[in-house]
Amino acid sequence: MMTEKFLKRSRRVTQVGFILLIFLIPVFDILRYDTATKELFLLGRVWTLGLKAGFITDHSLTGSLHVAVQFFLNAVLPWLVVLAIFPLAGYIGGRFFCGWLCPEGTLFELSDYLTLKLLGRRSLYGKKPNDPELSRPNRFIFGMLALLSMIVIPLLGGIALTGYFVAPRTIWHQILTWNFTFGVKAGIIGVSIYILIGSIFVRHVFCKFVCAPGLMQMLFGWASPVSLRIKMDTSRIAECTDCRGCEKACFMNVLPRKNKRDISCVNCGACIAACHRELGEGKGLFHFQRGEKQSPLVQEAATNGDTHRTRQKGAIDDAAGIKA
Ligand code: SF4
Ligand code: SF4
Repeated sequence: MMTEKFLKRSRRVTQVGFILLIFLIPVFDILRYDTATKELFLLGRVWTLGLKAGFITDHSLTGSLHVAVQFFLNAVLPWLVVLAIFPLAGYIGGRFFCGWLCPEGTLFELSDYLTLKLLGRRSLYGKKPNDPELSRPNRFIFGMLALLSMIVIPLLGGIALTGYFVAPRTIWHQILTWNFTFGVKAGIIGVSIYILIGSIFVRHVFCKFVCAPGLMQMLFGWASPVSLRIKMDTSRIAECTDCRGCEKACFMNVLPRKNKRDISCVNCGACIAACHRELGEGKGLFHFQRGEKQSPLVQEAATNGDTHRTRQKGAIDDAAGIKA
């Protein structure tokens, strides 16, 4: 069962695990382009087109076919696979990647959390109706944590991403000897500034309007009849206490009680956890669902013109600030 603890813990595990993976991919040559040797490393090996020696001088039909097949298999096909990853992920899981794996999303959530602790709201630009209330935290500790995060995280991100273009052992050697080449310095500083500005000033606006993988998942998830999404059990809406915990848990500013497909929803499950917290473990009103199927009770209500349930639904819509 998707309990509150299970949801929270498993999401943190996948988020931290994916960040570790981003660090380790270039370390183990799983994927990186070495700007010094001009070699592309893929799954531990130097990637080549696999062409036979002397293929340029071989003008026979067999020679041409060999070049065409190798080019398709080693150049076109890998790119098609790479380009299909996010549309496919969106078609199946909606924006699941954004909510459970994306390192930037994780960082933005951390920034929200620290801002909430320091200023009492998620955003730097003002309080929103769905900002959670907090008991008075120790601002000094959270101020120190925020300062530390602003220095350490961008630098680590800069080192990790520069490792996709310069061998990680070269980078660490330069850091330890404090003797940097221009490429390493530019890579670390450039990425650090990008991360710093993104996590302080931009955050989820980037996820909603700029991020290309996010937009692809959004588009394909929206169009897909089978993509994963959050659903409210409308046959039990009378149990809703209108605590607004689900809305306050949502860092993407979605109103989950609308029970409609929302392209901003990243399927994080925070609303599911919040409702379990309010109504008791296992009794929450939200769940993950594939596609748009309605609960049999709601279908029955719709068919029979069940005015009682319609009225309940109307009450929830009003509570969620939805205009009919
Ligand atoms: S609606 Fe729920 S699952 Fe979707 S982003 Fe908001 S909290 Fe996460
Ligand atoms: S759906 Fe659940 S979390 Fe949201 S307001 Fe109702 S009881 Fe609270």
